[in-house]
Amino acid sequence: MATIFSRIVAGEIPCHKVAEDEEFFAFLDINPVAKGHTLVIPKQETDYIFDLEDPLLGRMMAFAKRVARAQEAVIPCKRVGVAVMGLEVPHAHIHLIPITKESDMYFGGEKMTITQDELAEVAALIRKAYK
Ligand code: AMP
Repeated sequence: MATIFSRIVAGEIPCHKVAEDEEFFAFLDINPVAKGHTLVIPKQETDYIFDLEDPLLGRMMAFAKRVARAQEAVIPCKRVGVAVMGLEVPHAHIHLIPITKESDMYFGGEKMTITQDELAEVAALIRKAYK
């Protein structure tokens, strides 16, 4: 059975898409810890990120870097923080989070309150800045 993230890539479940190429897909996290919180996934279904073959993992990080550059361009932040957990969704993904302080990357607390319209607006900004 396809993972929820594969179903997003297939267009079966809606998302706020940020970027895509042949191998990877980026979209906003539905429960962001900070504005612009984005997930980068390989289209290939693999649960654990460190089970990906080295070349694919390298290309995934290069793709994530391009997404991060776009986030930096449009979301006020000091830098883009990177996290990998995968405890909830068994499809490898990198969290890219625009941050100004350490606590912006705290996953254990209250999530941001953000509307679908606001998510759509943020996604459009990042998408436009993505090169
Ligand atoms: P983890 O697997 O622990 O890295 O957490 C999974 C992340 O995926 C969480 O931050 C969720 O908010 C996010 N998430 C789960 N379902 C969706 C979805 N349908 N669209 C966007 N983000 C999602």
